[in-house]
Amino acid sequence: MEDEPLKQEIIRLAAANAPLPELELSGLPVFQPGWVWLVGAGPGDPGLLTLHAVNALKQADKVVYDALVSEDILSLVRPEAETFYAGKRGGKPSWQQKDITDRLIELARDGHRVLRLKGGDPFVFGRGGEEAQALVAQNVPFRIIPGISAGIGGLAYAGIPVTHREVNHAVTFVTGHLAGKGAPELLDWAAIAKASPVIVIYMAMSRIEAIASQLLAAGRAVDEPVAIVTHATTPHQCVVTTTLAEAAQAVKQQGLEPPSIIVIGAVADLHATLGWFQPS
Ligand code: SAH
Repeated sequence: MEDEPLKQEIIRLAAANAPLPELELSGLPVFQPGWVWLVGAGPGDPGLLTLHAVNALKQADKVVYDALVSEDILSLVRPEAETFYAGKRGGKPSWQQKDITDRLIELARDGHRVLRLKGGDPFVFGRGGEEAQALVAQNVPFRIIPGISAGIGGLAYAGIPVTHREVNHAVTFVTGHLAGKGAPELLDWAAIAKASPVIVIYMAMSRIEAIASQLLAAGRAVDEPVAIVTHATTPHQCVVTTTLAEAAQAVKQQGLEPPSIIVIGAVADLHATLGWFQPS
């Protein structure tokens, strides 16, 4: 077989749990001191890091990371590099957004190569845009390295394509975290219900009841397929399929915990035939 040597090398690396081979691609950028790179770490599986992200991890001096960045990915940080946890502890943010941007700016001004590591893609419900604006305001040079967002890559690991010919020609990505909190809704759920055959919801776990009732009130079917994917792409991935009318109950009954992506629409049914990932 032509690719036998490659196959053997992959088996050898997997068996040895070996570090990643050296990147030999020409054209990967040099991380200059004084720069901040805003990097997406993907949904969890280190295999979903981009080559740019690995290249960043191999050079960074300081790494400021969020809660959803997996341990496996953090293990790729150089041993000499210093890491800072900027996520939430016990539900409370340990750093405010301003603390994070101040720290990024300060570290860059001190001449470090600063890697800001975020789960998924930095520009998808990740405040990456705000952080980049703060860097621009202070003339700190930066680079953005996109990542695989949980709402796409996480669903792929559940065997759910976010678009599927003859099922949907549009998909809407929304955040659920403010739904039904009493404040005026930031999203026009009725319009989304009418216009979008597939709805992918981030940060929805505690708001699913309010979201489902708004969508049902706007005419979506009670038996519409729903899939809830928790800890997507990690060894703890769990996929629960249910219906729009029963989704909130399914979350409660099965004790599902965040992080999760909830997908509403006929594509959720494809998990039954395309679900391929066997978490170890
Ligand atoms: N920038 C991230 C999203 C950050 S918001 C991205 O592009 O994926 C945080 C939300 O992302 C979580 O509440 C959850 O809805 C989703 N999420 C992130 N990682 C996830 C994972 N491994 N499995 C399921 N959902 C995940």
